[in-house]
Amino acid sequence: MTMAEPRLKYFAELSPLARDRFQASVLAWYRIHGRDLPWRKTRDPYAVIVSEIMLHQTQVSTVLPVYQQFMATFPTVRSLASADPSDVKQITDPLGYKIRGQWLLDIAKIVTEQWHGEFPRTVEALSTLPGVGRYTAGAVLSFAFEEKAPILDTNVNRFLGRYFGADYRNPRAEYRHQLWALAEAVVPDHDVHAFNQALMDLGATVCTSRKPACLTCPVYANCQSGGPISPSERAAEESVQYHRRLATDDQRTVPE
Ligand code: SF4
Repeated sequence: MTMAEPRLKYFAELSPLARDRFQASVLAWYRIHGRDLPWRKTRDPYAVIVSEIMLHQTQVSTVLPVYQQFMATFPTVRSLASADPSDVKQITDPLGYKIRGQWLLDIAKIVTEQWHGEFPRTVEALSTLPGVGRYTAGAVLSFAFEEKAPILDTNVNRFLGRYFGADYRNPRAEYRHQLWALAEAVVPDHDVHAFNQALMDLGATVCTSRKPACLTCPVYANCQSGGPISPSERAAEESVQYHRRLATDDQRTVPE
C-alpha cells in the first residue's frame, strides 16, 4: 500500500456538503462551550509553543499555573534565550518530562540566534525545533498565524476517528496517515484557530475515551460511532490508555 492511498480515499469520501456541515457544527459548539484558557487569548507564537510543549502528555489543570508563572518570568523568546537554565528548570520540572525545560531553552536560542527572534511559518522549519513534530507545528501555524494547518493530538485523533468510523486506535503508520488526511480534509479556510481548538475541546470534554457524551455532541447526527460504547470497546480504550502510559513512563513517545 502506498502512503497516498488513504488520503485519496478519505478526500473522496468527504463531500463539500459533509465538510461544511461538520465545520459549521464544530464552530457553533465552540462559540458556546470552548474552554477559556490563557494561551487562547494570544497569537504570540512563542506563547503558543510554550503552552504546547507543556501540554505534551500533561493535563490542562496541571499546566495552567506553570504556564502562567513561566510567561510572567520569561515573557518573550529573547528573555528565555538569555535565561539561566536552572531558573527555567525550576519552573518546568514539576510538570514531569524534565527534558521540556531544555527543549524550550533550545527553541528560544535557535529562534533568537538563527531566525532573528521570528518563528518560521512552515511545518518543515518548525519541525526542526527540539520537541516539535507535525502536531505542534500545526498548532503554532493555526493558533498563532491562522494558517490552514491540521492538528492531530490524542483527543482529536479519537474524535475524528470515531466520527468518520476510522480505526483511530491502530498505531500503524497507514492508520495515522488516514487520520492526518481526515484532519487535513476538515480544516476550514477561515476560523482555523477556533476550529482546531474546538476539535481539541470536543475530544477532551465530549468524545472522551471511556464515556463519550454523544447526546450532547454537536456532530452526533452524522457520527459513524455515536451512542454508548460497548464493554469490548471500553476494554480496547483501556488497553490503549495502558500502553500509552507505558510508553509515557519511559519517555519513548511524546504525542505528535
Ligand atoms: S457522537 Fe459520540 S462518538 Fe461520535 S464524535 Fe460525538 S461524542 Fe464522539
